[in-house]
Amino acid sequence: MSRNTELFERACRAIPGGVNSPVRAFRSVGGTPPFIQRAQGPYLWDAEGTRYIDYIGSWGPAILGHADPEVVAAVQAAAVDGLSFGAPTEAEIELAEAIIERIPSIEQVRLVSSGTEATMSAIRLARGHTGRSKIIKFEGCYHGHADSLLVKAGSGMLTFGNPTSAGVPPEFVQHTLVLDYNDLAAVEAAFAQYPEDIACVIVEPIAGNMNMVRPAPGFLEGLRAQCTRHGAVLIFDEVMTGLRVGPQGMQGLCGVTPDMTTLAKIIGGGMPVGAFGGRADIMADIAPLGAVYQAGTLSGNPVAVAAGRVTLRRLAEPGFHDALHRQTGLLIQGLVERARRHGVTLSGDWQGGLFGLYFRNTVPTTLTEVSASDLDAFKRFFHGMLSEGVHFAPSAFEAGFVSATHDDAVIQATLDAADRVFARLQ
Ligand code: PMP
Repeated sequence: MSRNTELFERACRAIPGGVNSPVRAFRSVGGTPPFIQRAQGPYLWDAEGTRYIDYIGSWGPAILGHADPEVVAAVQAAAVDGLSFGAPTEAEIELAEAIIERIPSIEQVRLVSSGTEATMSAIRLARGHTGRSKIIKFEGCYHGHADSLLVKAGSGMLTFGNPTSAGVPPEFVQHTLVLDYNDLAAVEAAFAQYPEDIACVIVEPIAGNMNMVRPAPGFLEGLRAQCTRHGAVLIFDEVMTGLRVGPQGMQGLCGVTPDMTTLAKIIGGGMPVGAFGGRADIMADIAPLGAVYQAGTLSGNPVAVAAGRVTLRRLAEPGFHDALHRQTGLLIQGLVERARRHGVTLSGDWQGGLFGLYFRNTVPTTLTEVSASDLDAFKRFFHGMLSEGVHFAPSAFEAGFVSATHDDAVIQATLDAADRVFARLQ
């Protein structure tokens, strides 16, 4: 029995499904996940010593590459001074200031420890601020696993073809309106039906949890106009896109200003950090200033904050995101071109260090179109690439991630591997 299989069997005895987050279990592609022992730059090594080029990047945080020496040094230095105080620190002010400086719509920000906490808290705050109950979310967008958001959600939920989670009473989601991404008419109809009841619209400004799907022209602008007109809070969930698609997240690229933004992943540089922030008048409603309660024992943790500060500083270096966008483009254009050469149907899209690959002719604009891609071809591509030492996300409903350490040689090695895999896929 291989070491990975042995570990997976052992994991399955101690941990449900052998994993601590569902998509890691390879359920939609089959097989046994490699157990990772260490990572450096663009590479992962598993328990059998096999090296993989990594296009998951810990699902987003590893934008500088794994175990970046400066980030690791900052974490080590912070750890020596104490792991957690449960009291304010100068370091957490500095991370908050760096976030505010990068993302102009954020006037004040509160740090938490995950993306789930960030979105859950942002929605509670939007409800408290407006005194309203209903929220609008979009099918295929994932905003973490808070009860009221597990409604036809994306990511692992989609992969399992399970539109809602057991354990969530219907009453808990009765105020959640789920509409189609890119369907502005449906948003207008919802506001027409409930003009005084909608507290917020939460949206991934580029969806990264149904593979990668861009907003249609005018969609985000339309959400802004509807929220302004009806006094609802517009929340951009940039947990995935923030600081990955551009220096100011998607909001810097599309020119639409949300009232609130949620962040996580990159701002913790691989350590558990999330954040929600936005207009100061809204943030004033959170405890201890306001009546909306929110708290966290490890919020603003000094070791986590140290990793985030260094990461944000490095991302501010001139040309960082242009270089990342160029490298991701080399990868995606190269893969699509090689697929065509072998008669394999593939399209792709990318922005900064985020990409989508679709086994269909054209780039999808809806979840229905993503679902209509050739899922069997994806599975064979995924396993073919894995056996060539290239690790893509184990689901056709996940986006991909490129880091600053994916240089020309790494991209070339990926394309060479894809050439061999596409030849077998025909
Ligand atoms: N929002 C988005 C857009 C995400 O992609 C994710 C996680 N992939 C979350 C929220 C939840 O973040 P976390 O897993 O850190 O709770």
